[in-house]
Amino acid sequence: MQGTVLYGPHDIRVDELPTPAILEPTDAVISLSASCICGSDLWPYRGIQPIPQPVPMGHEYCGIVEEVGSEVRSVRRGQFVIGSFFASDNTCPHCLAGYQTSCQHRQYVVGAQAPYLRVPLADGTLVPTRDVPGKELTPSFLALSDVMGTGWFAADAANVKPGGTVVVVGDGAVGLLGVLSAKQMGAERIIAMSRHDARQALAREFGATDIVVERGDAGVERIRELTRGVGADSVLECVGTQEAMTQAIEATRPGGSIGYVGVPHGVTLDGANLFYRHVRLLGGPAPVRRYLPDLIDRVFRGTIDPGKVFDLVLPLGQVAEGYRAMDERRAIKTLLQP
Ligand SMILES: [Zn+2]
Repeated sequence: MQGTVLYGPHDIRVDELPTPAILEPTDAVISLSASCICGSDLWPYRGIQPIPQPVPMGHEYCGIVEEVGSEVRSVRRGQFVIGSFFASDNTCPHCLAGYQTSCQHRQYVVGAQAPYLRVPLADGTLVPTRDVPGKELTPSFLALSDVMGTGWFAADAANVKPGGTVVVVGDGAVGLLGVLSAKQMGAERIIAMSRHDARQALAREFGATDIVVERGDAGVERIRELTRGVGADSVLECVGTQEAMTQAIEATRPGGSIGYVGVPHGVTLDGANLFYRHVRLLGGPAPVRRYLPDLIDRVFRGTIDPGKVFDLVLPLGQVAEGYRAMDERRAIKTLLQP
C-alpha cells in the first residue's frame, strides 16, 4: 500500500509500504475512512524533534475493521471503530483510573496516514459505534481520535465548571476544540488567545466569548483586565512552549487549574513561582480512550461538530502539501483521504 513516511526536516513522502497484517492475536487491522495530520507531527517535520531514521507518520484514525486476531472479543469485522494514539489494554490499574495513555502495556500507534492500519490491543483500544455512520460524520469521528479528546482532557484537567471563566492558550485544532469542550462543560466566559482571523471565527463559533490577540506580558495584562484583575478559574495550555506555559500560569487565579496538553518543548517550571501562585497543574498525553464513548454519543446526537477544524481536504498522495499548509499556518488541520 501507499503510506506516508517522514525522511527528515520538511521531507515527507508517499512510499510503498507493506500492507499491515495481524501480528499478535490481540491485533486488529482496519481500513481507514480518513486520516489526518496532527499539530504534533509538525515537531519532527520541522526538525525540532529529530528522527533517527525514516518513520511512517500518522496516529489519528477511524475506519472499518477488516480483520481481527484470534483473541479479540469486543470488536468484529465490518464495524466502524475509533481509537486513539496509544493502544491500551483498558484493564490495568492506570487504565481503570482513566489514564489509558499511561497503560502498563501501552503501545504507540503509528502509520495512520495510509489506507490500512494495524491496531494493537484492539479490545482495549478500539471503540465501535452502534452502526456505521454516514460519510458526513467521518471528519467529526476522526477528530475524536486525538484533537477533540485532547481538547476535552485539557478542559477536564483544568477543572472547567458551569459558570466558570476559562482561558485557552493556543489556536490550533486542540485549542479550538478546547473552547468547544469548555462550552460543553458549561463555562460562562471563554477567552481564546488568537491573532488569526479564521481561527478567531471558529473559536467564536465553538463558544468563545472574548478574543485576546496580545501575547506574552501584554496577553496576561489583557486577561487581567477582562477578569477584573482576578485571573481565570481554568486555563487550557494547548501549545507546549515556554511562552505559552508562562502565559497559562500567569493568567490563572489563585486556586485555579491549568490543563496542559501541548507537548512541552524546552519548558521549565519555577517551583517557587508555582508555590506562591496557588495553581494546580495537570497535563500529559490525553487519555482519549476514557472520553470516546461519551464523545461518540455527542457526535451522533449532533451536540458537537469537531470535524469543523478540518479546513483542508487532500488525497493521501498530496500529503506533502498538507504538511506545508499546516507548517505555514495556511490550514488549521488537514484531512487526508486514503
Ligand atoms: Zn492499561
